[in-house]
Amino acid sequence: MSEVRNVIIIGSGPAGYTAAVYAARASLKPLVFEGAVSAGGALMQTTEVENYPGFRDGIMGPALMDEMRAQAERFGAELVTDDVTEVDLTGDIKVVKTYDGEFRARSVILAMGSAHRKLGLPNEDELSGRGVSYCATCDGFFFREQVIAVIGGGDSAVEEATFLSRFASKVYLVHRRGELRASKAMQERAFADPKIEMVWNAEVASINGTESLESITIRDTVTGETRDLETTGLFVAIGHDPRSELVKGQVDLDDEGYVLVSSPNTHTNVTGVFGAGDLVDTHYMQAITAAGSGCAAALDTERFIAALD
Ligand code: FAD
Repeated sequence: MSEVRNVIIIGSGPAGYTAAVYAARASLKPLVFEGAVSAGGALMQTTEVENYPGFRDGIMGPALMDEMRAQAERFGAELVTDDVTEVDLTGDIKVVKTYDGEFRARSVILAMGSAHRKLGLPNEDELSGRGVSYCATCDGFFFREQVIAVIGGGDSAVEEATFLSRFASKVYLVHRRGELRASKAMQERAFADPKIEMVWNAEVASINGTESLESITIRDTVTGETRDLETTGLFVAIGHDPRSELVKGQVDLDDEGYVLVSSPNTHTNVTGVFGAGDLVDTHYMQAITAAGSGCAAALDTERFIAALD
C-alpha cells in the first residue's frame, strides 16, 4: 500500500500551483498531479498576460506558469505530469488513481479548471491570441479602436459586448437566434449602446486571416445566405465546461457542473475535499482569482490537517 500523504492537489493552473506553494511552505509535502498534456493550465495557451500583478511589463502566459511551477518545487511540492483517472473521496483516506498507480491522502484539493467552449472551426486555434479570444477581461485592452465581433447570446456574451464597446470602435453581437437569452437589464444596456450592432439569426461559417484575424464569414440561420464581417477581434462567449467529470457523483456540483464550495471558504460537501479556481468559479475566471482561491484552499487544508493531528 502507498503511504498516506497529507494532501493531493489535482490540477496545475494558477489555482493548483498556488495551493502547492502554500501547502509546501506549510510542510504538508503536497503531491500535485499536473495533467498529462496540459500541465500549466489555461495560460499555457496564451501569449502576453498584462493583468497579473507583479509584472509591470506583462509576462508571457507559459513563462508565468513556469515561475509558479518552479516556486512550488522550490518549497518541496512533488509534481507529477500525469492525469488523474479516478478518485474515491468518500472515506477518511482519499484514493487518487492514475494510469501508473494508486495514491492515498488525508485531503484533496480539486483545481482542474474549466474549458471554454470553442466554435470548432478551422483557423480557430491558429488565430487564437491573434484576434480570436475567449476572455474580454483579459484581451479587450488589445483591441482599442478596432472592430470586434462577439459570438453568443447569454449573459456573458452580452456583458462582454458591453465591456468591449469601451475599447472598440464597433462591436457586432452575433447570435444564432432572433432573441437573446441574457437578462432583460443586460439586454437593454446593450441595445442602448450606440457602438453595439446586433446580428440576429447568424452563425460563424468561417474565420478568415493568415497571420492574424481579418474577417469572419457569417451564415444566416434562416436563409442560409453568407456575408463577410471585417473584424480584427473575435470573442467567443458561448460558455465554459468545468472539468468536474472526475468527481461527479462524489462531490456536489451545481446545474452546470461547477464544484460547489461553501464560499467564502473552499470546503466542498465532502470532508477533507476542497475546491479552487475556475472549477468552482462561475463569475471571475481570472488567473489572479484562481491563484487566490488556490491559496485559500491550501490554508483550509492546513487547518483541516492540523485539527486531525
Ligand atoms: P486551469 O488554468 O484551467 O488549470 C487546470 C489544470 O488542471 C490544467 O493544467 C489541467 O490539465 C489540469 N487537470 C484537469 N483535469 C485533470 C486531471 N484529471 N488530472 C490532472 N490534472 C488535471 N486570465 C487572466 O487573469 N489574464 C489573462 O490574460 C488571461 N488570458 C487567458 C487567455 C486564454 C487563451 C485563456 C484560455 C484563459 C485566459 N485567462 C486569463 C484565464 C485564466 O487562464 C484562468 O482563469 C486560469 O488559468 C484558471 O486557473 P485554474 O488553475 O483554475 O485552471
